[in-house]
Amino acid sequence: MRFHRAESAFFVFIFVIMAAGLVTLHAYHFVHTAASQFQLSASQIAYIDKLLFANGVLLATALFFGAFFSYPLIRLQVKEEGKLRAMTESLSARSETLEQAALTDGLTGMQNRRYFDDALREYLHEFRRIGKPVGLMILDLDHFKQVNDTHGHDVGDEVLRAVAKCLKDLTRYHDVVARLGGEEFAVVTPNMNVESLQRFAERIRKAIATMPIMAGNVRLRITASVGLAVWDGKESAEAFYRRADRQLYEAKSLGRNRVCA
Ligand code: GH3
Ligand code: MG
Ligand code: MG
Repeated sequence: MRFHRAESAFFVFIFVIMAAGLVTLHAYHFVHTAASQFQLSASQIAYIDKLLFANGVLLATALFFGAFFSYPLIRLQVKEEGKLRAMTESLSARSETLEQAALTDGLTGMQNRRYFDDALREYLHEFRRIGKPVGLMILDLDHFKQVNDTHGHDVGDEVLRAVAKCLKDLTRYHDVVARLGGEEFAVVTPNMNVESLQRFAERIRKAIATMPIMAGNVRLRITASVGLAVWDGKESAEAFYRRADRQLYEAKSLGRNRVCA
């Protein structure tokens, strides 16, 4: 059993009072056995007795007061402090969960737009310092509205989850993969030049196009258009994003299911 600091201090206080009581008893005994040795008169002994008795009463009162008033108050305070600590702990755990939820996409479990925007800005800030390239890939599923219209929203959701899993499987640990909203995804790829980014995007595009997704016994053909950009080392996150987005529109207008850089 562990005691709170206030409780330990209280026990020390009780111990000191009891020791003082023992000293008082010893003094009483001593006065009566060695009275003749000190040539004390009967009235002097009676006076010392009274002093020792008063001392004993004061110590007993302190003991009583401590045991029946101070200690219960200390216990109460310790209990309330414990409750408060438990509450603060659960609150901070909850706010961590909330923070996590605010940055996660509920449907796919991947990072969301808010996380992506912050992460992109942070990556650019870091990579400006070390002078290495950063790639950005924006993917939009082709004719996804038709999937919903033909097979229902639940199948649409299933497709989004499958694409998310595919992206997670193909990307590296330090890539930022996010669902920006609807059927649009983005990948931030540090340390990639245009050629390797293009190869990487092509692999992702093919993986999505060959994903085995079934709606009943119909096999769905899902494709994505991809826009790419490599950071020029100067532009803002917004300008960088717009550049990749323009490439995505280029891919759409050239017929979809392709990568444009
Ligand atoms: P495009 O090739 O030009 O991109 O055509 P599209 O049909 O993919 O694009 P459009 O923007 O017209 O449609 C996007 C659709 O995505 C419309 C909306 O119903 C669907 N969508 C958005 N969010 C969700 C979602 O969370 N679940 C499902 N099932 N569908 C979604
Ligand atoms: Mg689309
Ligand atoms: Mg879209």
